[in-house]
Amino acid sequence: MNFSIPEELLEFRQSVYEFAKKEIRPSAESRDLEGRWDTEIWKKMGDMGLLGLPFPEEYGGQGASCLATTLATEGFSRGSTDGGLTLAWGAHTIIGSMPIVLCGNEDQKKRYLPSLATGEKIAGLGLTEPGSGSDAAGSMETRAVKKGDRYILNGSKMFITNGPIGDVFTVMAVTDKNRGPMGVSVFIVEKDFKGFSTGKKLNKMGMRTSTTSELIFEDMEVPEENLISKENSGFLRVGKATLEWERTVLVASGVGFMQYMLSEAVNYAKARKQFGEPIARFQAIQDKIARARMKIDASRLLVYSSASKKDQGIPAPIESSIAKLYATEAAIELGYDMGQIFGGYCFIHEYPVERAYRDARLGTLGGGTSEIMRSIIAANLAS
Ligand SMILES: Cc1cc2nc3c(=O)[nH]c(=O)nc-3n(C[C@H](O)[C@H](O)[C@H](O)COP(=O)(O)OP(=O)(O)OC[C@H]3O[C@@H](n4cnc5c(N)ncnc54)[C@H](O)[C@@H]3O)c2cc1C
Repeated sequence: MNFSIPEELLEFRQSVYEFAKKEIRPSAESRDLEGRWDTEIWKKMGDMGLLGLPFPEEYGGQGASCLATTLATEGFSRGSTDGGLTLAWGAHTIIGSMPIVLCGNEDQKKRYLPSLATGEKIAGLGLTEPGSGSDAAGSMETRAVKKGDRYILNGSKMFITNGPIGDVFTVMAVTDKNRGPMGVSVFIVEKDFKGFSTGKKLNKMGMRTSTTSELIFEDMEVPEENLISKENSGFLRVGKATLEWERTVLVASGVGFMQYMLSEAVNYAKARKQFGEPIARFQAIQDKIARARMKIDASRLLVYSSASKKDQGIPAPIESSIAKLYATEAAIELGYDMGQIFGGYCFIHEYPVERAYRDARLGTLGGGTSEIMRSIIAANLAS
């Protein structure tokens, strides 16, 4: 067994951390309070090569492995302390674009990836619907019907990260309603396609620096060349390949968050005095600090191990589900405990754990809930 990470990857994580700390952290609090998207910051991320990180180099990407992308996400999240922007980045680079990278044809890769890699265009994934989330494929209502050289899509998608600002969406729709999850296809949809519109921007509890909305398709015309892979292979082939990336790379943002929360809480515990001594001397505080470190180390190992399996071409449905389940629940528990260390200040915007705690709440909901992760793990073990 080899637990060491190559030195160049650790340096890369550090450089992303420093970039995010310098360029993004200073405005994170105000953008969160205002719920504001910042195009200039996005452009800087493109210049840094982050927006096409795992895309092949011939399409403008950096050719980064899953592990390198995971480390970058961790460094970015910790440096920026901006969960919303980390989510927008993940929605663009991983769930929005990886279906094209992993399953798209040459023409689709050439047409879409270069402008997504620079950030000129922004991507997202349209899977969830107002009436279907956990049972995304089984209860899907959006229909795609072939007419001549195009598909006509009708339906809508809910909670779509980058919805209000996105240019390109990978969208799942039913092409054969008699086949359940085996009858779903994936299409590349552009915001300018006839029949495409978005709902109002949703006002969220956390991840407020990202934008979220419904996508609405009314007799939307999608050229047949925008079908990814084969008809009816959307959920089992394209979706599954992408979701393992999501449940690994996006989860790494929680690891970065936790590291940030712990270091802030430790500094505070050393400085804050009660009963004549630093609160760090109290056993109840030490217990929280020790547990936090334990949860961070365990989460990091789970996430890295899942990423490393992906890089070796080994399917990791159990590992990625365990990583997501453990790390996202740990981030919420840790947010609570680190908040306790800050006492009343934990409740005040200017103090660092407040935003991190709100942002962490999405982890056990988005990309498959904790309940669904448990059922995937159990189904893989007990079926
Ligand atoms: C901020 C935000 C951003 C998002 N971004 C995107 C995006 O970019 N693209 C996208 O497609 N989606 C996105 N989502 C959607 C997200 O993935 C779904 O919200 C999630 O999958 C849960 O679906 P749901 O909300 O419909 O909950 P439901 O599926 O209705 O679940 C409700 C409750 O029932 C439980 N439940 C359901 N089925 C079972 C079961 N079989 N066993 C046990 N418990 C069960 C769930 O765990 C949950 O507790 C986003 C959501 C949010 C909030």
